Amino acid sequence: MNLQESIQLSGRCWYRIGGDAKYFAVPKTLDELKELISWGKAEGLPRFLLGHGSNVLFADDGFDGLVIHTKKLKAVRETEEGLLEAEAGVPLQSLVDDANDRGWQGLESFPGIPGTIGGAVWGNAGACGEEIGDRVHQVQLMEAGGPGEWIDAASLCWSYRCSGIEDRVVAAVRLQLSPGSDPQQLKNRSQELKDRKTSTQPYNDPSCGCIFRNPGEISAGELIEKSGLKGTSIGGARISREHANFIVNEGGARSEDIEKLIEQVQRRVRDLFQIELVREVIMPGQRGGSR
Ligand SMILES: Cc1cc2nc3c(=O)[nH]c(=O)nc-3n(C[C@H](O)[C@H](O)[C@H](O)COP(=O)(O)OP(=O)(O)OC[C@H]3O[C@@H](n4cnc5c(N)ncnc54)[C@H](O)[C@@H]3O)c2cc1C
Repeated sequence: MNLQESIQLSGRCWYRIGGDAKYFAVPKTLDELKELISWGKAEGLPRFLLGHGSNVLFADDGFDGLVIHTKKLKAVRETEEGLLEAEAGVPLQSLVDDANDRGWQGLESFPGIPGTIGGAVWGNAGACGEEIGDRVHQVQLMEAGGPGEWIDAASLCWSYRCSGIEDRVVAAVRLQLSPGSDPQQLKNRSQELKDRKTSTQPYNDPSCGCIFRNPGEISAGELIEKSGLKGTSIGGARISREHANFIVNEGGARSEDIEKLIEQVQRRVRDLFQIELVREVIMPGQRGGSR
Protein backbone atom coordinates (compact mmCIF):
# COMPACT_ATOMS: atom_id res chain seq x y z
CA MET A 1 0.00 0.00 0.00
CA ASN A 2 3.08 2.23 0.21
CA LEU A 3 2.02 4.24 3.24
CA GLN A 4 4.36 6.93 4.57
CA GLU A 5 4.30 8.46 8.04
CA SER A 6 4.96 12.03 9.26
CA ILE A 7 5.19 13.67 5.85
CA GLN A 8 5.52 17.44 5.73
CA LEU A 9 2.58 19.00 3.91
CA SER A 10 4.22 22.36 3.19
CA GLY A 11 6.09 20.71 0.31
CA ARG A 12 2.88 19.38 -1.19
CA CYS A 13 0.73 22.45 -1.61
CA TRP A 14 0.93 25.77 -3.46
CA TYR A 15 0.93 27.76 -0.24
CA ARG A 16 4.13 26.05 1.00
CA ILE A 17 2.55 25.99 4.46
CA GLY A 18 1.58 23.18 6.82
CA GLY A 19 2.84 20.66 9.35
CA ASP A 20 2.99 16.90 8.99
CA ALA A 21 0.39 14.43 7.81
CA LYS A 22 0.22 11.46 10.19
CA TYR A 23 -0.14 9.14 7.20
CA PHE A 24 0.47 10.00 3.55
CA ALA A 25 -0.02 7.86 0.45
CA VAL A 26 0.29 8.29 -3.31
CA PRO A 27 -1.76 5.56 -5.05
CA LYS A 28 -0.62 4.60 -8.55
CA THR A 29 -3.81 2.83 -9.56
CA LEU A 30 -7.52 3.10 -8.81
CA ASP A 31 -7.28 -0.28 -7.03
CA GLU A 32 -4.64 1.16 -4.72
CA LEU A 33 -6.85 4.19 -4.14
CA LYS A 34 -9.72 1.89 -3.15
CA GLU A 35 -7.46 -0.10 -0.82
CA LEU A 36 -6.31 3.10 0.91
CA ILE A 37 -9.85 4.36 1.36
CA SER A 38 -10.83 1.03 2.96
CA TRP A 39 -7.75 1.00 5.20
CA GLY A 40 -8.34 4.56 6.40
CA LYS A 41 -11.96 3.78 7.13
CA ALA A 42 -11.11 0.58 9.03
CA GLU A 43 -8.59 2.54 11.14
CA GLY A 44 -11.17 5.26 11.81
CA LEU A 45 -8.86 7.97 10.42
CA PRO A 46 -9.92 11.38 9.15
CA ARG A 47 -9.17 11.44 5.42
CA PHE A 48 -8.14 14.20 3.06
CA LEU A 49 -7.91 13.87 -0.72
CA LEU A 50 -5.12 16.06 -2.07
CA GLY A 51 -4.81 17.03 -5.71
CA HIS A 52 -2.21 19.70 -6.50
CA GLY A 53 -2.97 21.51 -3.23
CA SER A 54 -3.72 24.73 -5.09
CA ASN A 55 -6.83 25.53 -3.05
CA VAL A 56 -5.68 24.28 0.32
CA LEU A 57 -4.32 25.80 3.52
CA PHE A 58 -2.95 23.12 5.81
CA ALA A 59 -2.68 23.81 9.54
CA ASP A 60 0.66 24.55 11.15
CA ASP A 61 0.27 21.41 13.23
CA GLY A 62 -0.54 19.33 10.15
CA PHE A 63 -3.26 16.75 9.62
CA ASP A 64 -3.87 14.01 12.13
CA GLY A 65 -5.13 11.44 9.66
CA LEU A 66 -4.57 10.02 6.18
CA VAL A 67 -3.75 12.28 3.25
CA ILE A 68 -4.19 10.62 -0.15
CA HIS A 69 -2.33 12.43 -2.94
CA THR A 70 -3.82 11.72 -6.37
CA LYS A 71 -0.91 13.01 -8.45
CA LYS A 72 -0.05 9.59 -9.92
CA LEU A 73 -3.58 8.80 -11.10
CA LYS A 74 -2.93 10.25 -14.53
CA ALA A 75 -4.52 8.03 -17.17
CA VAL A 76 -6.49 9.76 -19.94
CA ARG A 77 -8.40 8.15 -22.78
CA GLU A 78 -10.89 9.05 -25.44
CA THR A 79 -13.92 6.83 -24.87
CA GLU A 80 -15.78 8.13 -27.90
CA GLU A 81 -15.69 11.20 -30.16
CA GLY A 82 -15.98 14.20 -27.81
CA LEU A 83 -15.72 12.21 -24.56
CA LEU A 84 -12.49 12.38 -22.57
CA GLU A 85 -12.07 10.13 -19.55
CA ALA A 86 -9.43 11.22 -17.04
CA GLU A 87 -8.31 9.87 -13.70
CA ALA A 88 -8.53 12.28 -10.78
CA GLY A 89 -4.86 13.31 -10.74
CA VAL A 90 -4.64 14.53 -14.33
CA PRO A 91 -3.67 18.23 -14.38
CA LEU A 92 -6.55 20.35 -15.64
CA GLN A 93 -4.08 22.28 -17.83
CA SER A 94 -3.05 19.12 -19.68
CA LEU A 95 -6.71 18.37 -20.44
CA VAL A 96 -7.17 21.93 -21.73
CA ASP A 97 -4.16 21.43 -24.03
CA ASP A 98 -5.33 17.97 -25.12
CA ALA A 99 -8.86 19.16 -25.95
CA ASN A 100 -7.55 22.24 -27.79
CA ASP A 101 -5.14 20.11 -29.86
CA ARG A 102 -8.04 17.88 -30.92
CA GLY A 103 -10.23 20.85 -31.82
CA TRP A 104 -12.70 19.80 -29.10
CA GLN A 105 -14.37 22.93 -27.78
CA GLY A 106 -15.27 23.17 -24.08
CA LEU A 107 -12.13 23.50 -21.97
CA GLU A 108 -10.44 26.48 -23.64
CA SER A 109 -11.71 28.88 -20.94
CA PHE A 110 -9.91 27.02 -18.13
CA PRO A 111 -6.20 27.59 -18.76
CA GLY A 112 -3.84 28.36 -15.92
CA ILE A 113 -5.91 26.82 -13.12
CA PRO A 114 -3.14 24.96 -11.34
CA GLY A 115 -5.14 21.97 -10.09
CA THR A 116 -6.06 18.42 -10.97
CA ILE A 117 -9.30 17.49 -12.69
CA GLY A 118 -10.38 15.75 -9.44
CA GLY A 119 -9.93 18.96 -7.45
CA ALA A 120 -11.50 21.07 -10.19
CA VAL A 121 -14.61 18.89 -10.31
CA TRP A 122 -14.85 18.60 -6.52
CA GLY A 123 -14.88 22.40 -6.20
CA ASN A 124 -16.61 23.16 -9.53
CA ALA A 125 -13.71 25.37 -10.62
CA GLY A 126 -14.66 28.35 -12.73
CA ALA A 127 -13.26 30.95 -15.05
CA CYS A 128 -14.69 33.66 -17.31
CA GLY A 129 -18.24 32.93 -16.15
CA GLU A 130 -17.93 29.22 -17.01
CA GLU A 131 -17.83 26.28 -14.64
CA ILE A 132 -16.16 22.92 -15.09
CA GLY A 133 -19.36 21.18 -13.92
CA ASP A 134 -20.96 22.21 -17.22
CA ARG A 135 -18.45 20.01 -19.06
CA VAL A 136 -18.78 16.95 -16.82
CA HIS A 137 -20.74 14.02 -18.21
CA GLN A 138 -20.09 11.45 -15.48
CA VAL A 139 -18.03 11.13 -12.31
CA GLN A 140 -16.64 7.91 -10.87
CA LEU A 141 -17.05 8.12 -7.10
CA MET A 142 -15.26 5.71 -4.84
CA GLU A 143 -16.05 4.60 -1.33
CA ALA A 144 -14.64 1.93 0.97
CA GLY A 145 -15.59 -1.50 -0.35
CA GLY A 146 -17.54 -0.06 -3.30
CA PRO A 147 -16.84 -0.75 -6.98
CA GLY A 148 -16.31 2.89 -7.92
CA GLU A 149 -19.67 3.71 -9.39
CA TRP A 150 -20.08 6.07 -12.39
CA ILE A 151 -22.81 8.59 -11.72
CA ASP A 152 -24.32 11.14 -14.08
CA ALA A 153 -23.24 14.72 -13.55
CA ALA A 154 -26.91 15.73 -13.58
CA SER A 155 -27.46 13.86 -10.31
CA LEU A 156 -24.95 16.05 -8.45
CA CYS A 157 -25.83 19.40 -6.85
CA TRP A 158 -23.70 21.86 -8.81
CA SER A 159 -23.51 25.47 -7.67
CA TYR A 160 -20.92 28.24 -7.42
CA ARG A 161 -17.61 26.51 -6.45
CA CYS A 162 -19.50 23.43 -5.29
CA SER A 163 -20.28 20.04 -6.82
CA GLY A 164 -22.12 18.47 -3.90
CA ILE A 165 -19.52 15.63 -3.88
CA GLU A 166 -18.45 16.60 -0.35
CA ASP A 167 -16.82 13.67 1.50
CA ARG A 168 -16.86 11.27 -1.44
CA VAL A 169 -13.77 10.53 -3.52
CA VAL A 170 -13.51 11.42 -7.21
CA ALA A 171 -11.64 8.54 -8.87
CA ALA A 172 -12.17 9.63 -12.49
CA VAL A 173 -14.21 11.98 -14.63
CA ARG A 174 -15.77 11.86 -18.12
CA LEU A 175 -15.86 15.23 -19.87
CA GLN A 176 -18.27 15.95 -22.69
CA LEU A 177 -16.71 18.24 -25.30
CA SER A 178 -17.72 19.42 -28.75
CA PRO A 179 -15.52 18.23 -31.66
CA GLY A 180 -15.11 20.16 -34.86
CA SER A 181 -13.48 23.45 -33.86
CA ASP A 182 -10.30 24.93 -35.25
CA PRO A 183 -7.51 23.91 -32.80
CA GLN A 184 -5.59 27.14 -33.39
CA GLN A 185 -8.59 29.27 -32.44
CA LEU A 186 -9.07 27.32 -29.22
CA LYS A 187 -5.37 27.65 -28.39
CA ASN A 188 -5.43 31.39 -29.08
CA ARG A 189 -8.42 31.82 -26.77
CA SER A 190 -6.66 29.84 -24.00
CA GLN A 191 -3.45 31.81 -24.44
CA GLU A 192 -5.31 35.12 -24.27
CA LEU A 193 -7.07 34.09 -21.03
CA LYS A 194 -3.89 32.70 -19.50
CA ASP A 195 -2.02 35.96 -20.30
CA ARG A 196 -4.83 37.96 -18.71
CA LYS A 197 -4.72 35.76 -15.63
CA THR A 198 -0.96 35.94 -15.15
CA SER A 199 -0.90 39.70 -15.65
CA THR A 200 -3.64 40.44 -13.09
CA GLN A 201 -2.85 37.86 -10.37
CA PRO A 202 0.25 37.17 -8.24
CA TYR A 203 0.36 33.95 -10.23
CA ASN A 204 3.84 32.76 -9.30
CA ASP A 205 3.69 33.55 -5.59
CA PRO A 206 2.64 30.84 -3.13
CA SER A 207 -1.11 31.20 -2.61
CA CYS A 208 -4.39 29.31 -2.92
CA GLY A 209 -5.85 31.49 -5.68
CA CYS A 210 -8.84 33.52 -4.50
CA ILE A 211 -9.17 33.26 -0.76
CA PHE A 212 -12.88 34.25 -0.63
CA ARG A 213 -15.85 33.41 -2.80
CA ASN A 214 -17.42 36.32 -4.63
CA PRO A 215 -20.50 37.28 -2.61
CA GLY A 216 -22.66 38.31 -5.58
CA GLU A 217 -22.55 41.08 -8.13
CA ILE A 218 -19.60 42.76 -6.45
CA SER A 219 -16.36 40.79 -6.26
CA ALA A 220 -14.61 39.93 -3.02
CA GLY A 221 -11.47 41.60 -4.40
CA GLU A 222 -13.32 44.88 -4.94
CA LEU A 223 -14.76 44.82 -1.40
CA ILE A 224 -11.31 44.17 0.10
CA GLU A 225 -9.81 46.96 -1.96
CA LYS A 226 -12.57 49.36 -0.88
CA SER A 227 -12.00 48.37 2.73
CA GLY A 228 -8.43 49.66 2.45
CA LEU A 229 -6.76 46.39 3.37
CA LYS A 230 -4.84 45.75 0.16
CA GLY A 231 -1.17 45.23 1.01
CA THR A 232 -1.81 44.53 4.73
CA SER A 233 0.52 41.90 6.15
CA ILE A 234 0.76 39.67 9.19
CA GLY A 235 3.94 37.67 9.70
CA GLY A 236 4.96 36.28 6.31
CA ALA A 237 1.49 36.65 4.77
CA ARG A 238 0.23 39.63 2.79
CA ILE A 239 -2.99 40.65 1.06
CA SER A 240 -1.64 40.91 -2.46
CA ARG A 241 -1.04 44.38 -3.88
CA GLU A 242 -1.79 42.95 -7.34
CA HIS A 243 -5.12 41.30 -6.56
CA ALA A 244 -6.82 41.90 -3.21
CA ASN A 245 -8.58 38.52 -3.14
CA PHE A 246 -5.21 36.75 -2.94
CA ILE A 247 -3.29 36.33 0.30
CA VAL A 248 0.25 35.36 -0.58
CA ASN A 249 3.00 33.70 1.40
CA GLU A 250 5.93 36.08 1.05
CA GLY A 251 8.22 33.61 2.77
CA GLY A 252 7.91 31.84 6.08
CA ALA A 253 4.18 32.54 6.51
CA ARG A 254 2.37 30.34 8.97
CA SER A 255 -1.16 29.08 8.56
CA GLU A 256 -1.99 31.18 11.60
CA ASP A 257 -0.87 34.37 9.79
CA ILE A 258 -3.20 33.64 6.87
CA GLU A 259 -6.08 32.83 9.22
CA LYS A 260 -5.61 36.12 11.08
CA LEU A 261 -5.68 38.04 7.80
CA ILE A 262 -8.82 36.16 6.73
CA GLU A 263 -10.53 37.11 9.99
CA GLN A 264 -9.38 40.74 9.73
CA VAL A 265 -10.81 41.02 6.20
CA GLN A 266 -14.08 39.36 7.19
CA ARG A 267 -14.47 41.71 10.17
CA ARG A 268 -13.71 44.87 8.16
CA VAL A 269 -15.99 43.94 5.24
CA ARG A 270 -18.79 43.00 7.64
CA ASP A 271 -18.45 46.31 9.52
CA LEU A 272 -18.26 48.46 6.38
CA PHE A 273 -20.64 46.71 3.98
CA GLN A 274 -22.68 44.24 6.11
CA ILE A 275 -21.47 41.46 3.80
CA GLU A 276 -20.22 38.11 5.09
CA LEU A 277 -17.25 36.91 3.04
CA VAL A 278 -17.08 33.11 2.84
CA ARG A 279 -13.75 31.35 2.44
CA GLU A 280 -13.06 29.61 -0.85
CA VAL A 281 -9.83 28.09 0.47
CA ILE A 282 -10.13 24.64 2.02
CA MET A 283 -8.65 24.25 5.51
CA PRO A 284 -8.40 20.51 6.20
CA GLY A 285 -9.09 19.50 9.76
CA GLN A 286 -9.16 23.10 10.97
CA ARG A 287 -11.77 25.10 12.77
CA GLY A 288 -14.71 25.70 10.47
CA GLY A 289 -14.24 22.36 8.69
CA SER A 290 -13.57 22.23 5.02
CA ARG A 291 -14.93 25.70 4.28
C1 LIG B 1 -2.55 31.02 -8.98
C2 LIG B 1 -3.89 30.32 -8.80
C3 LIG B 1 -4.93 30.58 -9.68
C4 LIG B 1 -6.17 29.94 -9.52
N1 LIG B 1 -7.17 30.23 -10.40
C5 LIG B 1 -8.37 29.63 -10.25
C6 LIG B 1 -9.46 29.92 -11.15
O1 LIG B 1 -9.32 30.67 -12.11
N2 LIG B 1 -10.65 29.30 -10.93
C7 LIG B 1 -10.84 28.43 -9.89
O2 LIG B 1 -11.96 27.91 -9.74
N3 LIG B 1 -9.84 28.15 -9.03
C8 LIG B 1 -8.63 28.71 -9.17
N4 LIG B 1 -7.61 28.44 -8.30
C9 LIG B 1 -7.83 27.52 -7.18
C10 LIG B 1 -7.47 26.05 -7.48
O3 LIG B 1 -6.48 25.96 -8.48
C11 LIG B 1 -8.71 25.28 -7.93
O4 LIG B 1 -9.67 25.29 -6.90
C12 LIG B 1 -8.38 23.84 -8.32
O5 LIG B 1 -9.48 23.28 -8.95
C13 LIG B 1 -7.98 22.98 -7.12
O6 LIG B 1 -7.50 21.74 -7.62
P1 LIG B 1 -6.41 20.91 -6.81
O7 LIG B 1 -6.16 19.64 -7.53
O8 LIG B 1 -5.22 21.73 -6.54
O9 LIG B 1 -7.21 20.59 -5.48
P2 LIG B 1 -6.67 20.69 -3.98
O10 LIG B 1 -6.31 22.09 -3.68
O11 LIG B 1 -5.65 19.65 -3.75
O12 LIG B 1 -8.00 20.31 -3.18
C14 LIG B 1 -9.11 21.19 -3.19
C15 LIG B 1 -10.35 20.44 -2.65
O13 LIG B 1 -10.67 19.41 -3.58
C16 LIG B 1 -10.73 18.16 -2.90
N5 LIG B 1 -10.25 17.12 -3.81
C17 LIG B 1 -9.14 17.15 -4.60
N6 LIG B 1 -9.07 16.02 -5.33
C18 LIG B 1 -10.14 15.25 -4.97
C19 LIG B 1 -10.62 13.97 -5.36
N7 LIG B 1 -9.98 13.23 -6.26
N8 LIG B 1 -11.75 13.52 -4.79
C20 LIG B 1 -12.41 14.25 -3.85
N9 LIG B 1 -12.01 15.46 -3.45
C21 LIG B 1 -10.89 15.96 -4.00
C22 LIG B 1 -9.78 18.32 -1.71
O14 LIG B 1 -10.04 17.36 -0.70
C23 LIG B 1 -10.08 19.74 -1.31
O15 LIG B 1 -11.24 19.79 -0.52
C24 LIG B 1 -6.36 29.04 -8.45
C25 LIG B 1 -5.30 28.76 -7.58
C26 LIG B 1 -4.08 29.39 -7.75
C27 LIG B 1 -2.95 29.06 -6.80
